[in-house]
Amino acid sequence: MITEKLYKLEQESISRGIPILGSVKGTWLYHLVKELKPQKILELGTANGYSGIIMGSEGAELTTIELNPEIAEEAKANFKEYKIKAKVIIGDAVEEIKKLNENFDLIFIDFAKRKYIEVLEKAINLLNKNGVIVADNITMEGCKDFKERVLNHPKLKTEIINIKDGLGYSQLQ
Ligand code: SAM
Repeated sequence: MITEKLYKLEQESISRGIPILGSVKGTWLYHLVKELKPQKILELGTANGYSGIIMGSEGAELTTIELNPEIAEEAKANFKEYKIKAKVIIGDAVEEIKKLNENFDLIFIDFAKRKYIEVLEKAINLLNKNGVIVADNITMEGCKDFKERVLNHPKLKTEIINIKDGLGYSQLQ
């Protein structure tokens, strides 16, 4: 199981205060990847690559966007170590996502909580048929608008996965 292989990176991230997904939500995400078998994955909020390694560990192509160039360099090194097919874009996810014109099977949103709502429509437009958007920390106050929108969006079927502060799971209808 990939989360076991990532134990050292998880512990190091926690001790350095890097806000990674962690192994409990990470295990759920890994099982989702095993089930959906996405070919192409987009992530907003790379940090040091912990969740990207989990999502890319079954061979998918990962595109991931990170604002902080220093942590993005760590992610690049970690992706190399774990042989993840990853393209790291350094910049503001709200701006960088607008420039993408390829489609994805899975989009994982895990960056500035109040900005989730700003990327939602573009993320929906980038999804392949039956594509899925997963949003971390969805029960946090900052994600309130986003949560309401995905729960009521005509193009999405959404459920809240009750692990810690929640994960939004939204499938394109
Ligand atoms: N997904 C990572 C994981 O679980 O391993 C954790 C990501 S961490 C919760 C959020 C990351 O989003 C931070 O590394 C932060 O620098 C980055 N970030 C914050 N604002 C951003 C923005 N506007 N665009 C892109 N990345 C951003």
